[in-house]
Amino acid sequence: MSELNLILLGPPGAGKGTQADRLKDDFGLPYIGTGDLLRKHKEDATELGTEAASYMANGDLVPDGLVIRMILEEIEEKGDDGFLLDGYPRSAGQAEALADALEEAGRKLTAAMLIDADDATVIQRLSGRRQCRNGHLYHVDFDPPKNEDGFCDIDGTRLVQRDDDKPATIGKRLVTYHEKTEPLIDYYDERGLLRRFDGSRAPAEVHDHIRATLATLRLEERL
Ligand code: AMP
Repeated sequence: MSELNLILLGPPGAGKGTQADRLKDDFGLPYIGTGDLLRKHKEDATELGTEAASYMANGDLVPDGLVIRMILEEIEEKGDDGFLLDGYPRSAGQAEALADALEEAGRKLTAAMLIDADDATVIQRLSGRRQCRNGHLYHVDFDPPKNEDGFCDIDGTRLVQRDDDKPATIGKRLVTYHEKTEPLIDYYDERGLLRRFDGSRAPAEVHDHIRATLATLRLEERL
């Protein structure tokens, strides 16, 4: 089977994490979630986590130097037979660093999957988002827990709102996305790698669309 080297691109709250959850099960791909990794560093109070914390709390990007090293190490460790990157790259410097590292290893990106959604949708989704300590996601209106209000259906742990899902930080994260990350859409489009998905649709629909696209990409590769 050909190697799938995938990245998920798009604004915060477009559904990248939700789709990543499904795709890693479908294709058995190692999931490398930049935000999750950084939050883990913060929780463990590592040097990187301590340095990253204030940027994250402000809705800014953590400096390229810190993030690039962390992600390239993860790819080297877990991503030999393919990977699913969520939340990386988020800047031109990060995209270049990934391209260089893959080229050096004689590998290629399969696709940059853009899950897009407009600002109003993103604000509505992020402000109602809740998650448990193991990263299972809910929404107070659209996807509340079924067993007990405020607790995860899967592991029973308490649901909390991420600090950066509070209104003031959501606005800043969107500005950061438009300034730093949105230009990567053209970057990958120019290289023939961009695939677009409508993140305002229901998760199951987006998932079907992505699976169909990946199946086609694999067929094309075999021809
Ligand atoms: P996320 O969970 O993907 O929304 O990420 C949460 C926060 O982690 C972001 O608002 C940034 O502060 C930081 N972060 C995540 N990914 C990156 C990245 N690729 N480059 C820089 N900072 C990042």
